[in-house]
This record gives sequence, C-alpha cells and structure tokens, in this order.
Amino acid sequence: MGGYNPGSHAIQAHNAPTGAFFFDERSVSMEKRYVYLDHSATTAIHPDVLEAMMPYLTDEYGNPNSLHRYGQRAQRAIEKARRQVAAVLNCSPREIAFTGCGTESDNLAIRGVAFALRDKGRHIITTPIEHKAVLQTVKQLEEHFGFEVTYLPVDEYGRVSVDDVARALRPDTILVSVMYANNEIGTIQPIADIGALCRERGVVFHTDAVQAGGYLPLDVDALNVDLMALSGHKFHAPKGVGVLYVRRRTPWISMMTGGGQEHGMRSGTQNVAGIVGLGAAIEIAHTDREAKNARLRAMRDHLVGSILEQVDDVQLTGHPTERLPGHASFVVSNVDADSLLLGLDLEGVAASSGSACSSGAITPSHVLSAIGATKREAMSALRLTLGDDNTEEEVAYAAEAVPRVIQRLRQYART
Ligand code: PLP
Repeated sequence: MGGYNPGSHAIQAHNAPTGAFFFDERSVSMEKRYVYLDHSATTAIHPDVLEAMMPYLTDEYGNPNSLHRYGQRAQRAIEKARRQVAAVLNCSPREIAFTGCGTESDNLAIRGVAFALRDKGRHIITTPIEHKAVLQTVKQLEEHFGFEVTYLPVDEYGRVSVDDVARALRPDTILVSVMYANNEIGTIQPIADIGALCRERGVVFHTDAVQAGGYLPLDVDALNVDLMALSGHKFHAPKGVGVLYVRRRTPWISMMTGGGQEHGMRSGTQNVAGIVGLGAAIEIAHTDREAKNARLRAMRDHLVGSILEQVDDVQLTGHPTERLPGHASFVVSNVDADSLLLGLDLEGVAASSGSACSSGAITPSHVLSAIGATKREAMSALRLTLGDDNTEEEVAYAAEAVPRVIQRLRQYART
C-alpha cells in the first residue's frame, strides 16, 4: 500500500483558491495525489467562469428586473449569457430560459407539455434508464393526473432503438422523452433519429441533455429536439443554475408562474451570477470541444484498459464506443460498492457507484437492472468520470490504484 496521507492533499485541494484546474501545477508525489474522477456528479468551477461571475456576487447586485442602472446591468449580463447558450444550441435566445438546475428543467419541460396537451392525449413515451428527474415526473403524471407512460426497451448497452419508438407511438401520444447520454453508464442515444421520427409523426420530443451538455453537440435543429434540459454544474459552472430550451410554437405552458421573468417561461428573480457563469462555461466547454474529447477518450481508454487487464470479474457497462468521452463504468463482482468507494477515497481517488442511496437503504441501480444486470451486479457498480481538469498523470495513478483497491478488498473478503 502506498504512503498516501488521505487528509493532507484533500485539504490542500479544498483550500486552493483556483480550484481543481490547477491540480497539475502542484508538486505532490504520485502517492499523495487526490484524483477527482466524479465529473458526472459535479465539476469544479472553471477559473474563468468564476472571474466572469465575481462582479455579480459583489458590486453588481442589482435585480435584473429593476429599471435603474443596477438592474439594467444585471439584465444585460443575463442577456449576454442567453446569447452564449443560444449560440451553442443554434437557437433564438428567446427560446432559452434559465432555471435553478437540471431537475427543474426536466420537470418544467415534461409537465409543461403534458398540461398543454392533456386534452389532445395522455400518452407519454420514455425509457427506464432516465434520471429520476424524468422518471418521477412522468410517474406523478401517471399516478395523479391520468397519463399513461410507456417505457421503451433498451439493449444490453442501454441503447434505445428508433424502431421501438415508432412501434410505441399512438394517436394519443403527446410527448417522447429520451435522454441524450446516460449518467450511470455513459451510453449516448440516437437522439437526432428519434427526434426526426417524432417530428414526422407530430409528437413533441424532449431530451435530458444534462450529462451531454459539456461534451456533445447541442445544435437543437440538427438533433430535431423540441425541448432540452441542461445543468451548469456538470460543465464547470456553479450549482444552482440550469437551462430549459423550448422550441418556438411547441405546445407548452410554464409550470412556474409569478412575475413573468425569463419571457414568462420561468418566473422568479434570476440567479444572475450563476447565469453569467453558465454562459461563460458553455462557451468554454464548446470551444475546441472535439480536441478536448479526443484527449478525454484517450485517458479514459487507458483507464478502462488497465482495469480490465489487471482485474478479473470486472465488466464494462454501457456502450463500448457510443458513450461520453470521459465516462468509464463497471460492474465489479464480489466487492461491496460502498467499501470500494471508501477504499478508493482512502487511496486518493474520488469515484462513485451506480447505486442510489435513498433513506439510508442502498437500492440496486435502476439503470443496470434495465440493461439486464442481476440484483447483485446492479449493486456493485463503479463509475469513474474524467474531466478536462484531469491530467494524464492523475489517470495513470488511478489506473494503478483502482485495481489495487479491488484486489485488496477481495482478499479481505476471502480471509
Ligand atoms: N439528468 C441527468 C441525466 C443527470 O445526470 C442529473 C444529475 O446528475 C440531472 C438530470 C439533475 O441535474 P441537477 O443536479 O442539476 O438537478
């Protein structure tokens, strides 16, 4: 076992004023690293994003809805961020509303279409591997508001087939919601093809693009998307700010009523600093995106290759190629997921598992269950997600540390 002192470097990283983007500038030995490989959960604020936000956390505190100059400056900052988002989505700024998070965007998208079209039909199509932000929303519509939900089948990699969407469509179908990329297994869905089918059949199409936001093309015309949800903290903006895109003339009503902010799409005084940060972050994320993705993919493939080579009874989950560039996910047999995460934390690797923890009880991952994993397998998931702020050296460290921790835990279990 290496001489890693779990406290020291983590504290150093926490106190570093410039955030994880400066990990590689620190003179710490390989053994003392703390490597953050949980970018699907959240990301560090990019230094340039923080710099853009700072005025709106200090002197520029005006309410963007006030008429005086403080208000006008805040409003101008929001409109600039809206243009930055619209440029990446290739849409009109008026089709963008800033929200409080990805969950809120999914809620507003789905419920807004359902309520607008409830007299036309009450059938919604989605997948069993969506995030709970989508699953719980359609479940509530089903249990309390008389809607009917069809869950599409997914293959062993978690992919939906366009033919299955076509088969599931009915005259009373009002909405199809399929995520762009999965948070637990990284699989990317054929969104553009599903969107094209929905358009042909006159059905509204929503995609939860929260995990895709920083990595995949977001052109809503090319993707044939009518509504899209994004979340800032997944691509180096702060927590507490999201995006809802709603295509013009989509039958949709706002479920957040009040003062009519955000063109009436989402009432409530805006999180100005967060919005400014999101605008800067989306621009940064989509500049040289493919080159950054190629680097992430190379590091990810090294990590995956190393783990599969060194450890028996480990399986990669999700699609082997059609997956998010920095995303690696596994089922690790005969290892308790919590022990593995704690063991990795002690060895200086921040990872996550696919199992959701609710009310203290670990439940098997609904995503892994949907792709055919046994209950045991669905409770032994490991997710390692890389970001632009990871260095090759950090990934090399993790590629050595992860197999070591798994082997040690298995050895303990046997003795
Ligand atoms: N959708 C997906 C696919 C996610 O991965 C997440 C968060 O992990 C969300 C929605 C919710 O986003 P937020 O944390 O901004 O509410």
